[in-house]
Amino acid sequence: MTAASLATAAYIVAAVLFVLSLRGLSTHESARSGVAFGIGGMVLALVATVWVTVQNAWGDPQASVGLILLVVAVLVGGAIGLWRARRVEMTGMPELIALLHSFVGLAAVLVGWNGALNEPHLTGALRDIHHAEVFIGVFIGAVTFTGSIVAFLKLSARISSKPLVLPGKNILNVGALVAFVALTVWYVITPALGLLIAVTVLALALGWHLVASIGGGDMPVVVSMLNSYSGWAAAAAGFLLNNDLLIVTGALVGSSGAYLSYIMCKAMNRSFLSVIAGGFGIEAPRKDGEEEVGEHREIDAVGAAELLTAASTVVITPGYGMAVAQAQYPVAELVQRLREKGVDVRFGIHPVAGRLPGHMNVLLAEAKVPYDIVLEMDEVNDDLADTDVVLVIGANDTVNPAAAEDPSSPIAGMPVLRVWEANNVIVFKRSMASGYAGVQNPLFFRDNAAMLFGDAKAKVEEILRQL
Ligand code: NDP
Repeated sequence: MTAASLATAAYIVAAVLFVLSLRGLSTHESARSGVAFGIGGMVLALVATVWVTVQNAWGDPQASVGLILLVVAVLVGGAIGLWRARRVEMTGMPELIALLHSFVGLAAVLVGWNGALNEPHLTGALRDIHHAEVFIGVFIGAVTFTGSIVAFLKLSARISSKPLVLPGKNILNVGALVAFVALTVWYVITPALGLLIAVTVLALALGWHLVASIGGGDMPVVVSMLNSYSGWAAAAAGFLLNNDLLIVTGALVGSSGAYLSYIMCKAMNRSFLSVIAGGFGIEAPRKDGEEEVGEHREIDAVGAAELLTAASTVVITPGYGMAVAQAQYPVAELVQRLREKGVDVRFGIHPVAGRLPGHMNVLLAEAKVPYDIVLEMDEVNDDLADTDVVLVIGANDTVNPAAAEDPSSPIAGMPVLRVWEANNVIVFKRSMASGYAGVQNPLFFRDNAAMLFGDAKAKVEEILRQL
C-alpha cells in the first residue's frame, strides 16, 4: 500500500470519527464521548498528514524545507492554542471561537492566493475549475475573516453590539454578491491578478458589513453562521489543496453550523435568510429603549429567603450574569436545600441564555444539578403563571417582556421566558444596566418584581446563610 492510499484510509476513519463526534455532542450524556471522538479524529488526521508529507519529502531538499516549516507551524500553533485554551474563562469562549473562525477564513484566503500565484499546469475545463475554486475560496474566506473579527470585537465588548445601519445596506449587500458573481465569471475567462485583489477587498468589506449590521440580540445566530462559513471556507481550501479530509470536515462543519443557525433562528423567531443576509429586511429600531420606565422595588437576601421558604414552586431562569459571577455552585446548593424542604424547584433555560449555545446547561452540569429538573423554555413557559417564585439569576434579554409586548422594541418577536406571569420575581443583578441587546427591561418595574442588587454568587450565598 502506498503512503497516499494509507493516508486516504486514515482520512476516512477520521471523517467517521468526526461524524460520531457530532452525534455525541448532541446530548449532555454523550457529550464527553463526542469530544473524545473529535480529538481522536483530529489526532489521526494530523498524524496521517505529517506522515504522508514525510514520505513525499524523503530525498527531496525542497519538500524537506516544506516539512520543517509544517512541523514548526504545528508546534508554534499548538503551543499558542494550548496556552489560550487553558487560560480562557468560560465567559470568554464565544469571542475565542469567533477569533478561531477568523483564522480559518484567513487560511482559506492564503490558500486561494497561493493557488493563484503558483498555478498548477492545467488546461481546458480543469484550468477554469481551478480558477473558480481560487475565487470562491478567497471570497468565502475573506467574508469569514472580517465577519469573525467584527463578531469577536462585539462579543468581547470592544465595539458596540448595536447594529450598524448604513443607508441602502441591503442594496450594498446584494450589489456585492452580484459583483462577486460577475468577477468570478470574468476571472475564469481572464485570470488577472487585479480581479483577485478586487474580490479580496470586496469580500473583506462585505464580511465586515454583514456582521456589523446585526444587532446584539441576533449575535448567537451570527456566531453559528460564521462557524458554518468557516466550514465552507475550509472545504474550499480542501478543493485547492486536493485534500479529501479537509473537504469532508469542512462540509461537516459547514452543514452542521448552517443547521444550528437555522434551529437558533426558529427558536428566536428570526428569518434565517434575513440574518445570513446581514439583517436583510430588519429596519433600524424605532427606539433604543434604554430609558427607565417606572419605579423599581428592591429586596435583600433576608426577604428573598423568606419568600423562598414560603414557596412551594420555584423556577430559576439563569443568564449570562450567572456565568460571570460563577454562581452555579451556590445555586446548585440552594436548589438542593429547597428540594430537601419539599419545594418543587426547576430551571427554565432560554435557547440563547449566556453567550454560547448550551452555556447554561454546561454550567449547571458542572455544578451537578440533576438533568431532569433543567427544562427548556417551551417546557416551562406555560407553568410560570402557577409558580410562586421565579429567581432570575443574571438574565436580562431572555426574560424581557418588551420582546413579547412592544412591537417597536429591537428584540420584538424573540420568544422569552414569561417570568412576569409568576406570583413573585426576584431579579439578581448588580445595577439597572440593560442586557446584551442594549434594551431596557420593563420587568424590573413590575409590581410583582423585586431587584436583589449585587454579585449573583455573593447574593445566593447570603440567601443560603438565611435558610
Ligand atoms: P444578558 O446579557 O441579556 O444580561 C446579563 C445580565 O447579567 C446583565 O443585565 C448584567 O446586569 C447581569 N450580570 C452581569 N454580571 C453579573 C454578576 N456578577 N452578578 C449578577 N448579575 C450580573 O443575558 P441573557 O443570558 O438573558 O441573554 C443573553 C444575550 O446574549 C441575548 O441578547 C443573546 O442574544 C446574546 N448572545 C447569546 C449568545 C448565545 O449563543 N447564547 C451568543 C451571543 C450573544 P448588571 O451589569 O446590572 O449586573
